[in-house]
Amino acid sequence: MVKLKDLVGNSCKLCPRECGVDRNRFKGLCKTYNKLEIASYNIHCGEEPPISGKNGSGTIFFAGCNLGCIYCQNYPISQLVKAKRAVTTEELADIMLKLQRKKAHNINLVTPSHFVHLITEAIKIARNKGLTIPIVYNTSSYDKEEVIYALDDFVDVYLADLKYTDNKISKELSGVSNYFDVATKAILAMYRTKGKLVLKDGIAKKGLIVRHLVLPGFLKNTERALYWIKENIPDVTVSVMFQYFPAYKALNHEKLNRKINPDEYFYVLNLVEKLELDGYIQEV
Ligand code: SF4
Repeated sequence: MVKLKDLVGNSCKLCPRECGVDRNRFKGLCKTYNKLEIASYNIHCGEEPPISGKNGSGTIFFAGCNLGCIYCQNYPISQLVKAKRAVTTEELADIMLKLQRKKAHNINLVTPSHFVHLITEAIKIARNKGLTIPIVYNTSSYDKEEVIYALDDFVDVYLADLKYTDNKISKELSGVSNYFDVATKAILAMYRTKGKLVLKDGIAKKGLIVRHLVLPGFLKNTERALYWIKENIPDVTVSVMFQYFPAYKALNHEKLNRKINPDEYFYVLNLVEKLELDGYIQEV
């Protein structure tokens, strides 16, 4: 199995961008060096019911991102990388333990892909000091398949986006031309390693939730994403999200400069019903 630290080395190939940057000296395309940076951590109640539960999810937002989505709703953190704070692996482990003491149902790692080699070290330290709650890997799914296999001992639940089914769209909206190929391989690896969602008292303990954010004017993309799920992992838990609002560069995009309209909402709702997908639908 691949060693995550070896993928970073002096020429980073940790994520599918494989930009080959020496992160000890320079920032990669993920806009980060080889040191952990977080934007914030808190108890978050806005995730899917089995993730947030009654007490909330212990969410840690990492600075930077290996995608460059023009509509990113977290763009000050992910794209502009403002308001960041450097932490050591020991400090990150202490944050995890603090969130556990606050009764969080899990540790929810948001946009972790470019830091997995350091996050796994922090998880080891935290577990040695008493961390027992599940680890949720909350990702765009722009992750290497081999990295997902290497995460098997560290991650319990995957909260994984399937953003696009067309590489032209992913190039235009997120700056990468192989999203669909990469993300579907990663999602299948997540499903192989963790399987269907397992709940205990309504809270996720293990498994996979596949998320899809519906984008205005991109209904064919949504259709193909839902069909891909139905054909490849029909019994997976799906979360269809309608929370889109124009942010960052999307304000100037001809299709993305508005919210979802009622016709789009009901069209997707009917499709989810027709395909008999199981999971969660966010209200508009
Ligand atoms: S993790 Fe960052 S530096 Fe490494 S390959 Fe990906 S984008 Fe480049």
